[in-house]
Amino acid sequence: MTAAGSPLSVSRRRDAAWCATPLAGIGATLAVTGAYVLAEELARHDSIAAAFEAYEQQIRPMVEDGQGVPKLAPRLMHPKTRLGIRLLHGTLGLASLEPVRNLTAKLVVGPGKEVDLSRYDAAASAPAQGR
Ligand SMILES: Cc1cc2nc3c(=O)[nH]c(=O)nc-3n(C[C@H](O)[C@H](O)[C@H](O)COP(=O)(O)OP(=O)(O)OC[C@H]3O[C@@H](n4cnc5c(N)ncnc54)[C@H](O)[C@@H]3O)c2cc1C
Repeated sequence: MTAAGSPLSVSRRRDAAWCATPLAGIGATLAVTGAYVLAEELARHDSIAAAFEAYEQQIRPMVEDGQGVPKLAPRLMHPKTRLGIRLLHGTLGLASLEPVRNLTAKLVVGPGKEVDLSRYDAAASAPAQGR
């Protein structure tokens, strides 16, 4: 509780809140998007609790999508034998060749669940909610 007797609002963000594995390659994107969305929601609401709720609603699908790395992936990316390391390097080398690269990107990066940030474009001129 604060000195005034109202509940203290605490928000955990970015890696401290959801930490997608580095293998997901989206932690920095989530960190920046999360900060932006939280700032926008705080600006739109007078109540911090309502802003936190709106923020979670917006960011959660993208976070859960980012966390959805197959459990086998960390093992495959950290081989413990020489053969495993050679296989990994060979596969990554092949996957990054010019003719294959676009196909690889499509296979690895599925359709994302990014937050629709355009909803905040109109917010600057619209009256704030929850006031
Ligand atoms: C090997 C690796 C590869 C990655 N590759 C990618 C990638 O390709 N693409 C991508 O999008 N993301 C990638 N990420 C993830 C990305 O780096 C993180 O998700 C992102 O940096 C999280 O931002 P953050 O602000 O939450 O945490 P951080 O960037 O870790 O910032 C936290 C800060 O808080 C400070 N701190 C900690 N404790 C305290 C304390 N008690 N007091 C004061 N300060 C403190 C730390 O020193 C640090 O500066 C990778 C991560 C790793 C480890």
